[in-house]
Amino acid sequence: MPSLEVISQNKQKMSVKLKGIHLQYANALRRICLNGVPVFAIDTVDIIENSSVLADEGIAHRLGMIPLSTDTSRFVEHSKCKCNSESGCSNCRVMLMIDSGDTDSTRTITSSELTSEDEFVKPTSDKIPIVVIAPGQRLKIEAYARLGRGTEHAKWNSSNIATLINSDNEDEYVLTVETTGAISPQQIILGGVEELSRRLEEFKQILSDLKSE
Ligand SMILES: [Zn+2]
Repeated sequence: MPSLEVISQNKQKMSVKLKGIHLQYANALRRICLNGVPVFAIDTVDIIENSSVLADEGIAHRLGMIPLSTDTSRFVEHSKCKCNSESGCSNCRVMLMIDSGDTDSTRTITSSELTSEDEFVKPTSDKIPIVVIAPGQRLKIEAYARLGRGTEHAKWNSSNIATLINSDNEDEYVLTVETTGAISPQQIILGGVEELSRRLEEFKQILSDLKSE
């Protein structure tokens, strides 16, 4: 029987021992933990005013890379949402805003100024620099975050690192994941196991459909 045993765990990192699992499945689970579990990231940005020295695309790119704490229980992926709307709805996106206002000294706008309409989905850190503005310059944006997977773009990676180490025994591996902060390492591994079994189920279905044809 395959089994999974927690070896160590803290807020950032978790290691589990996988027993009785073939290497290819253990490795598939590692990859899913890295980029197959959905997390929030900023996807579209409406620039209302940007008189900083950084181009609009540069601002949008930096916003996309800010890890956002993710609650998967209240939201669905845009592609699976019933709204079928290009801009999304309250079930599949969260709006965030920045309005720097006027400044009389040169200062750095950080993720602390990114306010979210959702009390949970917001930057995991207040200290991420976005852009420097000088007196007379201003940044005002509206951004939309949605759930995505790292397979689509690295900004949706759920883990910074996911490693698999072979132990001395056959079919026994140690999987370690380190979160970006969007979700807990435990949620990554549980989400990874769920996703892997869903994919295997799908594959089995395809095989049985082929046989019955
Ligand atoms: Zn929707």
